[in-house]
Amino acid sequence: MDLTDEFVNACEGLSVLHPEVTSRNVERRNELLSNCGAGATSVLDSVFSTMMSQNTTDKNAHAAVANLKAAHPTWGTVMTAPPSDIAALIRCAGLSEIRTERMQMILNTLSSEQGGTDEPSMEYLRALDNDAVKKELSRFKGIGPKTISCVLLFAMGRGEFPVDTHVLRIAKHCGWVSSSATRESAYNALNSVVPDEIKMDLHCLLVRHGKVCHKCAANGKPQFPPEDGPLVCPLRRCKSVSVKRENEAMTKTTMTTTTTTKKNKKQKKVKMEATKAAEDAAIVKDESDLPESASVVSSLPNKKE
Ligand SMILES: [Zn+2]
Repeated sequence: MDLTDEFVNACEGLSVLHPEVTSRNVERRNELLSNCGAGATSVLDSVFSTMMSQNTTDKNAHAAVANLKAAHPTWGTVMTAPPSDIAALIRCAGLSEIRTERMQMILNTLSSEQGGTDEPSMEYLRALDNDAVKKELSRFKGIGPKTISCVLLFAMGRGEFPVDTHVLRIAKHCGWVSSSATRESAYNALNSVVPDEIKMDLHCLLVRHGKVCHKCAANGKPQFPPEDGPLVCPLRRCKSVSVKRENEAMTKTTMTTTTTTKKNKKQKKVKMEATKAAEDAAIVKDESDLPESASVVSSLPNKKE
C-alpha cells in the first residue's frame, strides 16, 4: 500500500469514528463557497482566532474570541480601544497583554498601509498565492507557520495541512514521518504527500482523534476519554498492535475474539452508514471544544510560534 492510500484509508477509518468532524467540514466547505468565494469568515477573524488558540485550551480561546466579538463586532474598534479594555475581554485565554499588543500592532500596521482606514482588512490576501500569503503574514509578530497554515486552509480553502502536536504525534506513530521529525519538517513532508482533497478532513480528524483515542493520545491519556471505553483505533500501526493482541487472545478464547471482531465489524458498518447519512443531510454538529475558525488547533499548550 503506498502512502497516498494510507492517508485515504486513515481518513476513511477516522471519519467513521468521528463523523461530527467530517460533518463540520462539509459546512466549512459550503461556507468557503458562499459569498462569491470570500467565505463566511474574514481572514482577520481567522488570523486572530488562530492566534488566540496558541498556548491555551480551545475552550478558553473560544470564550476569549466570543467576549471580544460581543464587545467589538468589527476589528476597527479593537485597534483604537484602550489596551487594558481589550486585555480584560480576553483574559480567560491568558497572556492577555501580549495578545492585545500583537493584535493592535497588526491592526495599526494594516491601517497605516491601507491609507489610515478605520477598518483594516486582510481580505487582499485572498488574491495572493500561498507563498505570497505566507510571506505577507509571517512579517507580523505572533503569526507563525502553523497559524498561517490554518488560515490558508480554513479561511481561504487552500490545500494546506497544518501540523499541530496531535498531527505530529500520530504521524510519527503511523510511520508517516520519522520519529525525530519536528513540526516544521513534518509540515514540509506531509504537505507534499497528503492529497489536497483530504487535507482538511485528515487534519481535523487527526486532531480530534489525538484527543480521544487511548492509543493515539499523548502518554496514552486522552483529554476527552470516550464514556463507553477506549475506541477501536483504525490507524495502521495501532491496528497491527490490536490485531496482535487479538491473536494472542484467540489462542485462549477463540469464541470470544471472533464474537468481538464480528461485533466491531457490525458497529463499524452501522457507524459508516450513519456518517454517510449525516454528510448527505449536511447535519452540522458543534465542535464545542474547538475554537471558532481554528477549530483544529491543539488544545494542549503548544510551542510558541
Ligand atoms: Zn488511535
